[in-house]
Amino acid sequence: MYMDPLYWLFIGAGMLLSLWAQFRVKSAFSRYSQVASRSGLTGADVAQRILQANGINGVRIEGIRGSLTDHYDPKTRTLRLSEGVYGTRSIAAAGIAAHEVGHAIQHAQNYGPLKFRSAWVPVANLGGGLSMTVIMAALALGGAATATGQSLATAGILMFATTTMFTLVTLPVEFDASRRALATLESGGVMPNDEIAGARKVLSAAALTYVAAFVTSLLTLFYYLVRLGFVGGRRNRR
Ligand SMILES: [Zn+2]
Repeated sequence: MYMDPLYWLFIGAGMLLSLWAQFRVKSAFSRYSQVASRSGLTGADVAQRILQANGINGVRIEGIRGSLTDHYDPKTRTLRLSEGVYGTRSIAAAGIAAHEVGHAIQHAQNYGPLKFRSAWVPVANLGGGLSMTVIMAALALGGAATATGQSLATAGILMFATTTMFTLVTLPVEFDASRRALATLESGGVMPNDEIAGARKVLSAAALTYVAAFVTSLLTLFYYLVRLGFVGGRRNRR
């Protein structure tokens, strides 16, 4: 299957898009990491202020190793900020810290898409994990051209679709976290407006990586539909 030119046409396009998005994030992050914020607040300070401004108590802020490993853990209500964010006084650090607080606010307010995404994780893990084997078996049986092949192919497609669904529901969660982050930065007087523009650029680039993940997953799903014979008529298998 991996020698199939059709595979590279679909998946290669997704890979290029993902690489471009990652490049955009890294360059925006390194550019605005070098711009010190005039407030002199570190990422951790910014996070603390936004939590306070939103009346959220009981969220812990701690440091974590690595670059861009920042995340909010809803199980322990912990905000983990990476090395270039936690103790760093830059526009990029403020933007990333604010975004992660956005997730903590979503959690505190029972934001629907976040709840759905959390509940969907085990479904996508199981579906995605099994999909490859089932799709391979379906292909070996002639795909949609035979009765058994068709049942297996349908099952495999549905299993893989659970992961596409996950990348789709991630979009509102991530966009909303950044929207909340920028809104609080603006209204809370934490950062001057010209600095917020820089934070916005970092967050827009980060959002692009999630869009790339969704598009890649959708292209992969479409590739399987073609390969298994659901779309585009009969294909000769060599
Ligand atoms: Zn996020």
